[in-house]
Amino acid sequence: MPLHIETPVVRSQALSRLSGKEVWLKLEALQPPGSFKLRGVGAACEHHAQRGARRLISSSGGNAGIAVAYSGRMLGLPVTVYVPESTTQHARDLIKREGATVVVHGASWQEANALAQTQVSADTAFVHPFDDELLWRGHATLVDELAAAACNFDAIVLSVGGGGLLCGVVEGLRRNGLSHIPVIAVETAGADSLAQSVAAGSRIELPAITSVATSLGAKQICAGAFDVVHSHDLRSQVVTDQDAILACQRFLDDHRLLVEPACGASLALAYGALPDALAPFKRPLFVVCGGATTSARQLERWRTER
Ligand SMILES: *Cc1c(COP(=O)(O)O)cnc(C)c1O
Repeated sequence: MPLHIETPVVRSQALSRLSGKEVWLKLEALQPPGSFKLRGVGAACEHHAQRGARRLISSSGGNAGIAVAYSGRMLGLPVTVYVPESTTQHARDLIKREGATVVVHGASWQEANALAQTQVSADTAFVHPFDDELLWRGHATLVDELAAAACNFDAIVLSVGGGGLLCGVVEGLRRNGLSHIPVIAVETAGADSLAQSVAAGSRIELPAITSVATSLGAKQICAGAFDVVHSHDLRSQVVTDQDAILACQRFLDDHRLLVEPACGASLALAYGALPDALAPFKRPLFVVCGGATTSARQLERWRTER
């Protein structure tokens, strides 16, 4: 039994009217832990549990950590999430609410992750937030659901952090005979490790993450995601933080769903940022990837602070 739920795919009247296109939404924000991450993370955790893992560990203070904590609770396995001091109290609380132990260590993710790695053993499985084929196979189920729903989209818009979602969606398109569907991969400026890698022709590492879209904040995309640049019709796009934040606020009004700027980055295209990016398409589908770590108050603070 997969741990994720089948999510609705709906035609957005608000965004269709606004854009003059037929806009489809895959509502991954409705996964119980708040993001698509549960698809891949849940599949990976189940895989490890079946192979005898007795505990699960993660080093993500974001949605991956929350999804591992949720999966552990569902599977009856203890979970420890190692996070850096910079992880907000809200995110720590979301992980604890799933019954996991939170260990705060170090100033940056690198240090928290280094400590997590020392805990990996025969009976303790580490779940990576994006760079794992097990995860991609799980993420691909979202495309299986679109294919089963006979949803007739002509492009798929998604956000890119480390590139796990991208790899999973491309795998899903392939295994459903939809390899010809272009993927529009969106990042925010300051977390644009894919766009800069595409421009450089090699997998670059950002010196720092400066975007509020922390869930997109992988300094380097995974090798699998860079392979997709060459093997699929991939169109890399970058929006501003302001565009992403405003898209979150407008989406909350239009669809009554609160999502992180990481998700707002994709939705910004539906709200008119970068009109050229959508111009060739009539029926774009947006992966509403979600994210549980923000609040309406935080969105408003970001909007007025910048
Ligand atoms: C993790 C995450 C992303 C990015 O996914 P990757 O697999 O790292 O590319 C985007 N949005 C949200 C809400 C996320 O949690």
